Amino acid sequence: MRIARTLPPAAAPIRLRNILDGFQGSLRGQTEIERFRSELQDYFQVEHCFVLSSGKAALTVILQSLYNQHPDRNQVLIPAFTCYSVPSAIVRAGLKVSLCDIDPETLDFNLSKLQENLKSNKKPLAVVCPHLFGLPANIALLRNILADLDITIIEDAAQAMGGTENKYFLGTNGDAGFFSLGRGKAFSTVQGGIILTDSDQLAKEISRTIQKLSDQSVAKNLKHLVYALALSALMCPSLFWLPKAIPGLRLGETIYDPKFPMDNFSSFQAGLARNWPKRISALQQVRQKNVSFWQKHLSRFPWLQTIYPKNQLSNIYPLIRYPVLIKNNSLREMVLKSSHKHGLGIMPSYPDSIDGIQELEIVNNGQTFPGAKECSGKLVTFPVHSYVTRQDRQGILNCLENIQIKYI
Ligand SMILES: *Cc1c(COP(=O)(O)O)cnc(C)c1O
Repeated sequence: MRIARTLPPAAAPIRLRNILDGFQGSLRGQTEIERFRSELQDYFQVEHCFVLSSGKAALTVILQSLYNQHPDRNQVLIPAFTCYSVPSAIVRAGLKVSLCDIDPETLDFNLSKLQENLKSNKKPLAVVCPHLFGLPANIALLRNILADLDITIIEDAAQAMGGTENKYFLGTNGDAGFFSLGRGKAFSTVQGGIILTDSDQLAKEISRTIQKLSDQSVAKNLKHLVYALALSALMCPSLFWLPKAIPGLRLGETIYDPKFPMDNFSSFQAGLARNWPKRISALQQVRQKNVSFWQKHLSRFPWLQTIYPKNQLSNIYPLIRYPVLIKNNSLREMVLKSSHKHGLGIMPSYPDSIDGIQELEIVNNGQTFPGAKECSGKLVTFPVHSYVTRQDRQGILNCLENIQIKYI
């Protein structure tokens, strides 16, 4: 066990000042939640906005509402490489998972495979398109392919709150979009989810579903308060070794579990989010600086293959983790081992493609997803969050230099 400075792979800090705001928010109750909700609606310039307990709860509610409108369609098309929360939410909504392979160079859908899938399967209720690590997926191209098919595009902007592409906010270009406010995302209120849509019809359904979620309780506010206090301390690199060493926390693991809680957003969380536009923009500036650092300095290591949209190299995105493919497996193991030993925050991503989840039934039984498999086996991410110091960055470069000198 390592008891020393350890970087988390991703982190959106929660400060004591924010926790005080959260406490005050909990005293104001529903008005505090309404304030946050209407600020979001103004900022993202959308017709309808809802807040609830998590990103997966947000996706579940969107899917349930769509299914109410189209009860004849029960399949949801998703990339074979994404967060396990996505299939969890689909199953929770009572629907079936249909997979499409991705392109490892972009992490976006493999578009020719997407067209094949649409031809050979039943018409899906929706396509869920993620912006993994904050890298914008090509929603415009997706929309072209789906143009005449009347298939809803749900933008999974769980990792991309506040990010933009061509002057539009990620999460506002699909028919519906959602953000996650969980720890390790672009901005955090401990947990939380946000739904955005311009569709009046869909919003009416969503609003009906959300009203059925359980109501505010003092106990819930208290739980979030305790959790926020713990997170604000334990996400610091000086203490992060502690939660990392407790196996029961399963930190950094992504788990498939359709039995997650579906709940309201608490007034404590709404208070915790106070001043979010300013805070998001400050966090983004730091992450952009680090993204540009990795872009510049990792090019020295020819065995690291950067994943970045080829025609957007001059755009510095505020990613939440900087993704890289290491095609040589023993080098990858070496990097991860060294990171673990020295607390460098370099981590693998999702442990397997979605078809590798044992308990999950998919509609494309027997198909393989080589692009997704490649990513789960070869991808690692470098930390870009605001706890990363100049010494940390140098330490990471030194680790890579050592491996390169020794083994290449
Ligand atoms: C985190 C995440 C989710 C789910 O959000 P939670 O708030 O953790 O439920 C969905 N999709 C992606 C891509 C994510 O990273």
